[in-house]
Amino acid sequence: MQVYDIAIIGGGVAGLSLAYFLGGKRSVVVLEREEALGYHSTGRSAAEFVLRYNSAEVCKLAAISRNFFDAPPYGFTDVPLLKRRGGIIVSESDKAERLRDHFAREADDAPLRMLSLDETLEMVPFLDPAYVAAAYHDPDFWDIEVESLLQGYIKGARYAGVEIRNRAEILGARDIGTKWQIETPDGYLQANIVVNAAGGWADPVAHCFGVRPKGVVPHRRTAILVDLPADIDAAGMPEVSELDECFYFKPDAGRLLVSPSDETPCDPTDVQPEEIDIAWAAHYFEQATTLSVRRIVSSWAGMRSFTVDRLPVLGPAPDHQRFFWLAGQGGYGILSSPALGSLAAALLIDDPEPEGFRQHGLALATFSPTRF
Ligand SMILES: Cc1cc2nc3c(=O)[nH]c(=O)nc-3n(C[C@H](O)[C@H](O)[C@H](O)COP(=O)(O)OP(=O)(O)OC[C@H]3O[C@@H](n4cnc5c(N)ncnc54)[C@H](O)[C@@H]3O)c2cc1C
Repeated sequence: MQVYDIAIIGGGVAGLSLAYFLGGKRSVVVLEREEALGYHSTGRSAAEFVLRYNSAEVCKLAAISRNFFDAPPYGFTDVPLLKRRGGIIVSESDKAERLRDHFAREADDAPLRMLSLDETLEMVPFLDPAYVAAAYHDPDFWDIEVESLLQGYIKGARYAGVEIRNRAEILGARDIGTKWQIETPDGYLQANIVVNAAGGWADPVAHCFGVRPKGVVPHRRTAILVDLPADIDAAGMPEVSELDECFYFKPDAGRLLVSPSDETPCDPTDVQPEEIDIAWAAHYFEQATTLSVRRIVSSWAGMRSFTVDRLPVLGPAPDHQRFFWLAGQGGYGILSSPALGSLAAALLIDDPEPEGFRQHGLALATFSPTRF
C-alpha cells in the first residue's frame, strides 16, 4: 500500500495550487473523483481578477496573489496569466446617488474615473442611454487565463513529484493512529495528513473522515453566452457590472458572457443552470442595453461555496490536527489561489509565512477553522 505525507482531496484550483506549492517538499497525492481536473467550479468561472468589490480580506488576497499572476516562476506558463480588461460600474437613476457615494469612497486610493454618458457609450456603445444614469471606470479588472494557470499548477506539481489521480473518489476513510487509511476505487492508500480541498463537497468529505463540518454551503451561480451583432467587436470592451452586482457581462471569445449574479444555496452536485436564472440573465442584459438576446449560445452553472462569514476556511481542524481545511473560496477561488495555495503549503510544512501577507496586513489566523 502506498503511503504519502499528504493526500489532497479535490483536483480543482484549490487542491492543485496547493499541490504546486507543496511539490518537492513532501510526498503528495491529489485525489480527484472526476475524469477531468477542474471539472466543477474551477472550469465554470468568469475568469475575472479584481482588486476591489470583495471584503477587505479578499481584496488583500487578490493583492498578494497579483505578484504571482504578474511574474509567475520561470517556466510556469508561456502566456501572460492576466490580461487587463478594465471595468465599468453602472447604475440606473434610482441608484445614481449611491454610485457617486461609492465612487467617492473607493476613489480615495484607487485610479477610478467618473464617466459622462458619452464616455460610457464610447466604451460600450450598446449600453442603453435610458438605463445608464451614472457610471465610473475602474482599470483594475483583468481576465485570468484560467486554463494556463491550472496547467501551470499541474505541470509544476507533477514535475516536482506530486502524483495526481483522476477517477479517485474517496469511498471511505479511517484514522489508524498516526495515519489515515483512505479507500478509492483503485484500492487503499495511506497519508499522514489529509487536506480537504473538495469545493462544494467540503462538508460531506469532512463527515466521511469523522471531522465536524464547517458549514461550507455551495451556492449556484449561472452564466450564459450570447452572440453579438456582426458589426460589434467587443474584444477590447470593459466588463460591465451593475452597482449592486445584480448582473455583469464581459466579452468572452467574440461573444458576451452574461451572469444574473444568482446565488442560490444548493446541494453539492454537477449543478446545471435553471431556466429562470437563464431568463434573468437575458432580462438584465436587455434592460441595460439596446440589444436583444436572439440566441443563447450556451449556458452553465457552477458552485460558489461559502462559510457563514464568507471567508475561506484554511488550517488544521480543531477536532483533528491531521485533517486540514482548504475550502470556502466563494466567488474568488481562482484569483486568490496563489495566496491561499502558498499559505496552506507553508502552514502544512511549517514554513515561514509566504510573501505579501505581512505587507498587506493579513493575519494568518483570519481563515483559521477555529474561528467558528
Ligand atoms: C459562474 C461562476 C463564476 C465564477 N467567477 C469567478 C471569477 O471570476 N474569479 C474567481 O476567482 N473565482 C470565480 N468563481 C469561483 C471559483 O470558480 C471557485 O472559487 C473555485 O473554482 C473553487 O475551487 P475548488 O478547487 O475549491 O473547487 P472545485 O473546482 O469544485 O474542485 C473541487 C474538486 O473536489 C472534487 N471532489 C469532491 N468530493 C470528492 C471526493 N469525495 N473524492 C474525490 N474528489 C472529490 C470535485 O470533483 C472537484 O473537482 C466563479 C464560480 C462560478 C460558479
